[in-house]
Amino acid sequence: MMRGLIALTALVVAVLGKEMFEGHQVLRIVAKDETQLPLIKNLEDMVEFELDFWRGVTDVSSPVDVRVPFHSLQSVKIHLESQDIEYSIMIGDLQVMLDEEQQEMESAARIAEPRNTDSFDFSRYHTISEIYSFQDMLVAENPNLVSKIVIGQSYEGRPLNVLKFSTGGTKRPAIWLDTGIHSREWVTQASGTWFAKKIVTDYGRDPAITAILNKMDIFLEIVTNPDGYYFTHNSNRMWRKTRKPNSGSSCVGVDPNRNWDAGFGGAGASNNPCSETYRGPRAHSEPEVKSIVDFVKSHGNFKAFVSIHSYSQMLLYPYGYTKTPCKDQAELHNLAKKAITDLASLYNTSYRYGSIINTIYQASGGTIDWTYNQGIKYSYTFELRDTGRYGFILPANQIIPTAKETWLALMAIMDHTSKNMY
Ligand SMILES: [Zn+2]
Repeated sequence: MMRGLIALTALVVAVLGKEMFEGHQVLRIVAKDETQLPLIKNLEDMVEFELDFWRGVTDVSSPVDVRVPFHSLQSVKIHLESQDIEYSIMIGDLQVMLDEEQQEMESAARIAEPRNTDSFDFSRYHTISEIYSFQDMLVAENPNLVSKIVIGQSYEGRPLNVLKFSTGGTKRPAIWLDTGIHSREWVTQASGTWFAKKIVTDYGRDPAITAILNKMDIFLEIVTNPDGYYFTHNSNRMWRKTRKPNSGSSCVGVDPNRNWDAGFGGAGASNNPCSETYRGPRAHSEPEVKSIVDFVKSHGNFKAFVSIHSYSQMLLYPYGYTKTPCKDQAELHNLAKKAITDLASLYNTSYRYGSIINTIYQASGGTIDWTYNQGIKYSYTFELRDTGRYGFILPANQIIPTAKETWLALMAIMDHTSKNMY
C-alpha cells in the first residue's frame, strides 16, 4: 500500500511537476574569427551535452547564446577552453530568474480578475485562459469593430483564435499579424495582447490607423501555438515547439517555423524529432500551421503578413531557405529601414534588418517564405527584445515599452501596405 502510494506520488510529480532549471547557465560564445565558427557549430551535434541554443551560430559579429544544463556545465566549459573559444556567463542560474518571473505572475494573479479590457494588466505575463478571456471581453466591448474567428484546433484540441478588426466590406485587402508561434517567446504574446487593445483604442482617434481600417482588415492571432504556451506555464518554461508526439521517437513536437512548404526539408532545419528545429514529418503536418495555410488561401486577399518572434532585435524579410534575393528585396529593405527607424525613435532600441539568410542563417520551411511565395509581398518577421541579457525571460516591466516601440514599426509596414496596394 505504502509502496503503491509512493509510486503514485512519483507519477503525479512526473506528470504535473514543472521542469526545474537549477544551476543551468546561459553562456554567450563569441567567435574570434571565421575558423572558430564551425567549431562552435559542432556543439549542436554533441547531443550528450543537451544544449539549448537560444541564439544560433551566425557570423563572427553575432554572439551565440546557449543554455547548458547543470550536468554538462563542466564538460562544456572544458571543451570550449580546450579549443580556445571565448565565452561569458549571461545567466548564472536560470532557475533563479524563473522563480522571480513566477513570483511576479502570482502576486499579480492575487489581484481580482479584470472584468473588462481597461482593467487588464498589460504589464504582466498572462496564462492562456486569461488571454482567451481578454479576447472575448474585447469582442464584447467592441462588437462593431472586433470579432473572433476560430480557424482550427491545436493538436491538444485548443481553439486557434484569430481576432478580426474590420469596419465593414467583404474580403477587404488584409493584414495578418501573429505572435507566439514559438511558445517560450512570452513577450510576443504579451505584445500581441497590447496591440489588440491599441487598435480599438486608436480607431477613430488616430488618423493613420483609422485610414488603414477604413480600407483594410487586420487579423491577429495572439496565441499561435496554444499547446506550447500552456506547456510553458505548467510544465517547461523553455518549450518552443508544438506538442504533437512524433512516431518512433520519445521526443515531442515540431518547430512550427520550419514546417511550412517553402524549401521544406532543405538545409536550415533538422530531420531529428529531438531537435528544437525539427521540421516535422511533412510540410504543414502541424494543425497550428495548416490552419493558417488554409485560412490564408481561402481568404485570398492578404497583402501583408507579419510573424512576431523574440529575441535579438531584428526585422527580417524573405528569403530564409535560399540566397536568391526575393524580387521585391529593394522595396522590402527600404521599408524595413523605415520601420526600425520609427521603432528606435521611442527608446533608441536598435534593430538589425535584412533577409533571413543574410542576417541570421539559412532556415528552411519558415512562415514568411511561404507567405511571400503565395504572393503576399509585405512578409516580415520580427525578433523583439532583448539582445540576450534576459533572452526569453524578459522582465515583465519591459512588456509595454516593447509593445509600444514595435507598434511604431508595425504601423510603418501597415501604412505603406495600405498606400501601395497591389
Ligand atoms: Zn521564435
